[in-house]
Amino acid sequence: MRITVIGGGPGGMAAALEAASSGAQVTLIEKDRLGGTCLNRGCIPAKTLLRSAKVASDTRNAEELGLDCPPARVDVDRLRARKESVVDELVGQAEAQLRRAGVRIVSGEGRLIDANSVEVASANGALERVEGDAVILATGSKPFELPGVDQSLPRVWTSDDALNLAEIPKDIVVIGAGAVGLEFACAYAAFGSKVIVVEMMDQILPGIDRRASRVVLEGLERAGVTFRLRESVSLVEHHEGRVRVTLAGGSELLTDVVLNAAGRVPDIAAAGVGQLGLEMRGRALKVDEYFRTSVEGVWAIGDLIGGMMLAHVAEEEGVLAARNVVDTLKGIEPSSRLEPDFIPACVYTFPEAASVGVTRESARASGIDVVQAISKLTANGKALAEGEPYGFVAIVAEKGSGKIVGAQIAGAHAVEIVHEIAVAMRNGLPVQSLAATVHAHPTISEALKVAAIDCSSKI
Ligand code: FAD
Repeated sequence: MRITVIGGGPGGMAAALEAASSGAQVTLIEKDRLGGTCLNRGCIPAKTLLRSAKVASDTRNAEELGLDCPPARVDVDRLRARKESVVDELVGQAEAQLRRAGVRIVSGEGRLIDANSVEVASANGALERVEGDAVILATGSKPFELPGVDQSLPRVWTSDDALNLAEIPKDIVVIGAGAVGLEFACAYAAFGSKVIVVEMMDQILPGIDRRASRVVLEGLERAGVTFRLRESVSLVEHHEGRVRVTLAGGSELLTDVVLNAAGRVPDIAAAGVGQLGLEMRGRALKVDEYFRTSVEGVWAIGDLIGGMMLAHVAEEEGVLAARNVVDTLKGIEPSSRLEPDFIPACVYTFPEAASVGVTRESARASGIDVVQAISKLTANGKALAEGEPYGFVAIVAEKGSGKIVGAQIAGAHAVEIVHEIAVAMRNGLPVQSLAATVHAHPTISEALKVAAIDCSSKI
């Protein structure tokens, strides 16, 4: 079995490792650095920045913690060096893991010829043809180009520029209040920038539970971020040495830097995917539940196929697709499918937000009879001790059976504690099981137990 993977992001690397562990000969083609958007330009550098931002923000609130210390000043060069060393470390580890697993890594730009061959152009102009029995496409996504925003203008940033840390601008307008836009708003506000976030919807983090969205909004407002909700950007241009942002309603914002964080779209132009007549679903490459594209022998995963465009989703899809490819090549029907109901989604602002499964409202809208219980962090010992009594834990369970169907969490450590619920849900546990489990004291996780006890009483 010879399997070719195009794209060495979290999706492609996971697919390559899984296929290699099943005995396939795997070639992984990557045109840039291994690790993809996630390691090089996304999750990891952003969280590295946020860690420094949290310390900076804590020094601003030091007095409340009984400390006498001046607010931290940012050393951009050291900040950048730390970010790069974290990224380099993880990219090195990823490469070593792939090599240990026997994956052949080819550096260059892959172009799909057909299910059995990929042409690779290396940086020095050499061409190589990689032959195989199947191809997994994992070429990821690119920033969404907003009409009216000329991304080639200096000081009109994408997330890549925000992570390059050339400067900490005096002021910055962030377009889009999704997870990426808010994480940068949070970090740059902590570093001292005056931040305005423009969002066309009537809430930040559109799509997440409204109460969780409000907790994050209030936290960012406490940090000095200003929001312009229900407003959209119609034009971004240079004006007298600054950047002028014109909103659809006609008002204008003058700023040093604009960050376009209006989202990402599948990169279907990559690898010649767009030219092969593969079927599309909207802007994404169409696949069936087993990750098969419309061309036999060509499979696709990750941001390229749209859906939840998250690193852990890409990774899981990579593993599942690789299993399906191996099964198919052995003449076995593919059977590995994503279980989207149990996948957490996290936002790493201060305070954090995390969710898994459904909200009470969405459950009821789809006809499921549910109950909900909420535990506020104002009553949680650890949250108070940490000086972060903001937020709540909400658990949603099926009436009668008590089966947990969702949770929404906002507050400190939300992105860590959400997994307790994901494990419970994936194993079909009733909320009473959570209520009966001893949770260490004092922990933020105790709020889950409190909510679970309350929820059990409503079942
Ligand atoms: P990618 O990671 O984009 O990898 C695709 C790879 O394919 C790239 O390395 C690219 O160079 C390569 N490639 C493309 N075309 C070719 C070709 N023709 N030949 C060879 N190689 C090619 N997700 C989370 O889950 N949590 C987070 O906290 C989070 N934070 C984020 C923060 C930011 C600022 C951004 C931008 C994204 C963030 N994401 C986060 C999203 C996450 O990075 C993506 O969902 C994830 O990287 C998608 O993985 P992938 O493997 O599908 O694609």
